Amino acid sequence: MPPRKKIASPAGKNLFRLDDIPEAAIITDASHSILAANKALLELLGYASEEIVGWPLEKIFPQLPRGLSRLFFGEERQIEFETKARMRNGKRATMDFFATPIIRRGKVTAVLYLGRDIRVKSLIEAEIRKARNYFQAIVENSPYGICVTDRQRNVMMANRAVTEITGFSPSDLVGKPVLELYPPGEKAQKFEIKPGAAQPVRQLRFRRKDGGEVPVLVTYSLVPEPGGRGEFIIESFSDQSDRRRVDQLKNEFVFVAAHELRNPVTAIRLLLDIIFEDKRLAVDPIMRGYLAKIQEANERLLHLVDDLLEVSRTEAGKLQIQVNPQNIVASINGLLAEMRPTAVSKGVMFQYEPPPSMPYVLADAVKLKEILTNLMANAIKYNVAGGSIRLNHESRGNELITSVADTGIGISEEDKKRIFQKFWRSEDLAVRAQPGTGLGLFIVKELVERMGGRVWAESKRGEGSTFFFSLPIAR
Ligand code: ADP
Repeated sequence: MPPRKKIASPAGKNLFRLDDIPEAAIITDASHSILAANKALLELLGYASEEIVGWPLEKIFPQLPRGLSRLFFGEERQIEFETKARMRNGKRATMDFFATPIIRRGKVTAVLYLGRDIRVKSLIEAEIRKARNYFQAIVENSPYGICVTDRQRNVMMANRAVTEITGFSPSDLVGKPVLELYPPGEKAQKFEIKPGAAQPVRQLRFRRKDGGEVPVLVTYSLVPEPGGRGEFIIESFSDQSDRRRVDQLKNEFVFVAAHELRNPVTAIRLLLDIIFEDKRLAVDPIMRGYLAKIQEANERLLHLVDDLLEVSRTEAGKLQIQVNPQNIVASINGLLAEMRPTAVSKGVMFQYEPPPSMPYVLADAVKLKEILTNLMANAIKYNVAGGSIRLNHESRGNELITSVADTGIGISEEDKKRIFQKFWRSEDLAVRAQPGTGLGLFIVKELVERMGGRVWAESKRGEGSTFFFSLPIAR
């Protein structure tokens, strides 16, 4: 490497070699004669080093801008310009230059020109533009409203769907707090989002520009800003009005159908009761056997209809709950009397020894019975012959926890996650052998939670199950 291709520091030490610079570099003296050029420049324009050293710069760059001499007089520290280069093969290349003086012992000794083939620059710019357009097209055409906000929740960007859903245009929102969309009373600091945590989801009613409201489901994600300078929040939301309407219609249909079914089913129940009890009717034993089967099937149907009615009431938000202080012991004793015959026929024993003094719970009398009936009926259904069911209470703070423990088939870890879901029943053959709708525990959960309590289960497959529910203690 010839020594002239090295740039020296004021102290005379070599700082770096010109060939190490990735950009095309060229050094000229005060009269714009070329002193050195690096490999990148030579390769770009097709010249050999020996041939161009000593040439005037204009020979390669015929259209240099005026004022480059100012760099020598210390009047400019840098000049940027675009110019055409004459390549060795006669072709022209447009280049983008950055020129700066080289100062040694306080004096300008040369000028360094760093240049780039502008095609590279325009290719990079085109790629950036393409990526930006691509990203913009995705965001703009998303059916979800997307608001990007800073940590203070001021809107930085809003897409088209935000306008379609709320009526607010991006110019209405950008720079303003996103909380303008939120229901009155919502506070910025009330809702904390942690980076990396599971995305929080909220169901809300956003304000519309026309003064109306729109139901939305909002998800939040905290995204680190590129370059690690900070974070921003992406709040994306979907319009729930259509889904709500469809859900509402479906729910209304189920409610009306179940309601209409209940009349004929209860009529069949009444007629069967009369047939079994009226001594004047001579029903032969074979016929009686068939009728008993019809009665059993009809009871199952009635159970299903009642469950469907209860589910559609909860989903329509029409569940009527009236809480009063209730004597849970009396409720359980009443149910034990009703259910013992069924338990005995399955070879299952109830065990219940309530403590002599028990606090009253705050509950709806009818719904409390429904909760207990469902749990006790399951404890019989999913028990084994010779098994038992133990009912217990425990006061914990302001709550009374009641448990129903059976010695039955138990529930696997996997199934335990799903038992409170609507219509879910285990695939287990022992479960499928029993009649059921998969609605009982869903209803139990809804009712308990509506009365301010919680419900949960502990179980191991093959080792029985214990269901717990809490209710507030009446003071
Ligand atoms: P159903 O009993 O009508 O199927 P539930 O909603 O009451 O519906 O219960 C849902 C499912 O949970 C049952 O199908 C069963 O798989 C499981 N399960 C509920 N209670 C018990 C229990 N005591 N022991 C074992 N499995 C149970």
